[in-house]
Amino acid sequence: MTSYPALHMIIDGEAVRGGARRTQTIVNPATGEALGELPLADTADLDRALATARQGFLRWRDSTPQERSAVLSGAARLLMERQEDLARIATMEQGKPLAETRIEVMMVAGLFNFYAGEVFRIYGRTLVRPVGTRSTVTYEPVGPVAAFSPWNFPLGNPGRKLGAPIAAGCSVIMKSAEETPASALGVLQCLLDAGLPKEVAQAVFGVPDEVSRYLLASPIIRKLSFTGSTVVGKHLAKLAAEDLKRTTMELGGHGPVLVFDDVDVDRVLDTMVPHKYRNAGQVCVSPTRFIVQEDVFERFRDGFAERAKAVKVGNGLDAGTQMGPMANPRRPDAMERLIGGAVKAGAKLHAGGERLGNQGFFYAPSVLSEIPLDADIMNEEPFGPVALINPYRSAEDMIEEANRLPYGLAAYSWTNDVKMQRRVAREVETGMIGVNSVAIGGADTPFGGVKWSGHGHEDGSEGVHACLVTKAVHEG
Ligand code: NAD
Repeated sequence: MTSYPALHMIIDGEAVRGGARRTQTIVNPATGEALGELPLADTADLDRALATARQGFLRWRDSTPQERSAVLSGAARLLMERQEDLARIATMEQGKPLAETRIEVMMVAGLFNFYAGEVFRIYGRTLVRPVGTRSTVTYEPVGPVAAFSPWNFPLGNPGRKLGAPIAAGCSVIMKSAEETPASALGVLQCLLDAGLPKEVAQAVFGVPDEVSRYLLASPIIRKLSFTGSTVVGKHLAKLAAEDLKRTTMELGGHGPVLVFDDVDVDRVLDTMVPHKYRNAGQVCVSPTRFIVQEDVFERFRDGFAERAKAVKVGNGLDAGTQMGPMANPRRPDAMERLIGGAVKAGAKLHAGGERLGNQGFFYAPSVLSEIPLDADIMNEEPFGPVALINPYRSAEDMIEEANRLPYGLAAYSWTNDVKMQRRVAREVETGMIGVNSVAIGGADTPFGGVKWSGHGHEDGSEGVHACLVTKAVHEG
């Protein structure tokens, strides 16, 4: 049986804890029980991490692709060897079912394996001109990266934050979410055990605003990579702009799902309902606003509610659990406020709308329909287990609703009409769109948004290029 590990930071390869440092209690969201105490960085810790990151960059920028590839593929192997332990730890601290955390380990291993190949494809080019001059375009690692990741994918987010800089030849200081530290440490440990030099990647924890202000004020850091809410993303982008640091911002969404009346409604529901309640809806690409054509609206809404009521909610460690608790007490509070506000404004509640149990942070899979567009829940990312279903008449109205908000991360559309598939893919303003599919990510494809959902990409060759700068060398 996996036990929850003792917590620490990793600075210059050393497990750092204790002393006069402040600590934060880590809580199991399914039970409310304390799992451990997390040490929080003081400024001396951050200074040490920064000096080490500088050394790590000088060491790693000169590494060969073979060396980087061996570390990444070695870490992928170790992740899979440690899959069950890592999955259990992630479920204990974040709540989602074991089946989901096991997949998360596979996702990180898949990404590291992809990058292990991609490091060999960081090519420049040479321009040889008839007059004899030549110019060489090269890509160089940007420098030490500060990476801040959230709690919703406790293994997957750290995997993305570490994998790309390491593939590109950068060093990285990661501050992953204080709520899910052991998962992040587990991913970093696989890289270190696979031979990553200790100066190249480090993990600190702390008071988020203190740590991010301190690291972003340092000229040593050359890039910010952030995943989290739009409001915090805008704040961090301003801090990064003071020193014109490069940024990759993966922010919130409010995923529209366009369902046209030519579809097989049951087939769409069988795919979309589990996708909605995955990770209790705490997913940036979660399908949220269901924009359903009139003729199938009632069948879609009723079928959704019936399936939502059948979702088995429980402790993620228990066999058969389909949806765990929410990750922290802020989320059920937010659900209560958003769903309560919508019902008050005239929305109809078809399932859920209540907390479950008397321990942990459980909230029932919920379905609302006919929600006024000015209700907070139609404008603010709900980040929870709630589907918002409204009827629309024409394709124009549906696309207009999809584009109404300033968010543009993921969208989904369901129709058998090929012309409409192409129209929606072109006209809906998002970074990613699933056409008759919910499989919108993968190690080899760019993941990222537009507008208030951020800029830049993770994964794919774009993920590596996001950590590179271009240099042109001209020879006369
Ligand atoms: P939050 O915005 O306060 O925190 C989100 C993440 O950002 C956390 O990991 C937090 O530690 C970090 N963070 C917060 N302030 C920071 C700062 N000043 N410097 C560095 N890191 C900072 O909100 P929350 O209550 O944890 O989550 C609520 C909202 O965040 C959700 O409603 C959702 O919109 C968004 N969120 C998005 C994602 C995503 O994948 N895009 C993931 C988690 C949360």
